[in-house]
Amino acid sequence: MKRRDVLKAASLAFVSTLTAGYGSNDMAEKEIRKKATKKPTGVLKKSKNPKVLVVGGGWAGLALAKHVKIFAPQAEVVMVEKREHFVSCPMSNEWLVDLVDLEFLTHSYIDASQNNHYTFINATATDIDREKHILKTSRGEIAYDYLVFAVGIEYDYDAWTHGDSVLEERLRNEYPAAFVPGSEHITLKHKIKNFKGGNFILTVPEGNYRCLAAPYERACLIADYFMHHHIDGKVILMDESNHIRIKDKGFSSAFNELYKDRIEYMPSAKILKFDLDKKVVETDFDEIEFEDASFYPNVKSPYILEKLNMTKSTPYNRVEADIDQYTYKVKGTNNIYVCGDARPMGFSKSGNTAFSEGVNVAQMIADEIHGKTPVWKSPVTTCFSVLRTKPERTISLYTEYRYTKNGGMDFTNSMTDEAWKTNHLGKERVAYAWAESMYRNMFY
Ligand SMILES: Cc1cc2nc3c(=O)[nH]c(=O)nc-3n(C[C@H](O)[C@H](O)[C@H](O)COP(=O)(O)OP(=O)(O)OC[C@H]3O[C@@H](n4cnc5c(N)ncnc54)[C@H](O)[C@@H]3O)c2cc1C
Repeated sequence: MKRRDVLKAASLAFVSTLTAGYGSNDMAEKEIRKKATKKPTGVLKKSKNPKVLVVGGGWAGLALAKHVKIFAPQAEVVMVEKREHFVSCPMSNEWLVDLVDLEFLTHSYIDASQNNHYTFINATATDIDREKHILKTSRGEIAYDYLVFAVGIEYDYDAWTHGDSVLEERLRNEYPAAFVPGSEHITLKHKIKNFKGGNFILTVPEGNYRCLAAPYERACLIADYFMHHHIDGKVILMDESNHIRIKDKGFSSAFNELYKDRIEYMPSAKILKFDLDKKVVETDFDEIEFEDASFYPNVKSPYILEKLNMTKSTPYNRVEADIDQYTYKVKGTNNIYVCGDARPMGFSKSGNTAFSEGVNVAQMIADEIHGKTPVWKSPVTTCFSVLRTKPERTISLYTEYRYTKNGGMDFTNSMTDEAWKTNHLGKERVAYAWAESMYRNMFY
């Protein structure tokens, strides 16, 4: 048997409890599935090979699935992901204004799993049986010894809508945030391309939202697009915070020097009322009319973690995963982890951070498998933002983290390069090179 066949056989044994919830004309396959479903051999007791199950094929989940196989090759690894293919959020601002094409952002989960020797199951995780160590999914049940939720974020509209679900659905559909991949991004791109002029509102939420830099970068790139396409439009950037949250020098100088007439930056601009029919929003101080908008609300941890009673409220966000910050284990459990943007710690909710954390948690799980004591390591944040296109200019930031003696979080080894006027010696391409190397690492 070749190595690839051995791996395939191991993976199939692991997922043998998947129920046949979809049509197949192949009688033999049906028969195998029927038997497997009736008799989930080896699923309820621990087999020799530890089973590591990852829910979520984003930056954290992809890194984790790959690296568990590297650090503990004997582990059987399965990744359950509800999307059919991967579309990257990082570099999607560049895609909105045609700097990269969709192919650059889009990758195959089948490639990722085949190239990195784990099993990909295209399904939605819905519940767990903690006693029996079973994950329930839209395609059946899967056993685990170690379960990792790397499920990213969901939007939390409550601070705006106070439970008004009609308003929430209108905001989601008429003015999507485009901070979770999918239709929202396509709609936002159409909005930018078809914009006829006037105010285009973008918002920056409070708390620890996904990708601190992305709303500021998006404002620059949309303003740049309006300029080069002779659209008489202005970006109104309404920030709930009283200052630019990241790379302040770089962004504020870009707003002032490149986009003085194209971006109006409004700090402490919390929207208190939406009149979507009249296209007006109200803050404590102003009433602002708009032609079009993309409203980015607060974020929270995805519903599945709430449903499983694995959440708490933090100073950052209303609903976040309730885990131990050193071990990533869900409080009260010994084999269920959360990592990536769904974590509650104050680390940047960004792709590079999630990826490096996926690697770290993979190492911790491998250590457990090998009977060693896992050691916490800092995730790493690397963040590039493109400020203009002709000529292209980019700013960047790097940071690691440490915990203080009282368990608080601090930054360490931080550096930024925000001197966009003089930093053009090839650095403007670094953002693209970073993304390409990350895709290569996760998929190929
Ligand atoms: C416009 C934009 C620009 C950005 N730019 C950058 C950048 O330049 N650099 C950077 O480092 N980061 C950037 N980010 C942030 C980055 O995209 C996120 O931080 C990163 O995706 C987080 O990874 P994750 O794995 O935690 O979550 P995700 O990537 O969101 O992955 C979570 C996955 O879990 C799946 N899932 C959720 N629930 C279930 C379930 N019940 N069953 C099965 N699957 C489930 C989801 O479908 C999803 O694929 C940007 C984000 C945006 C929106």
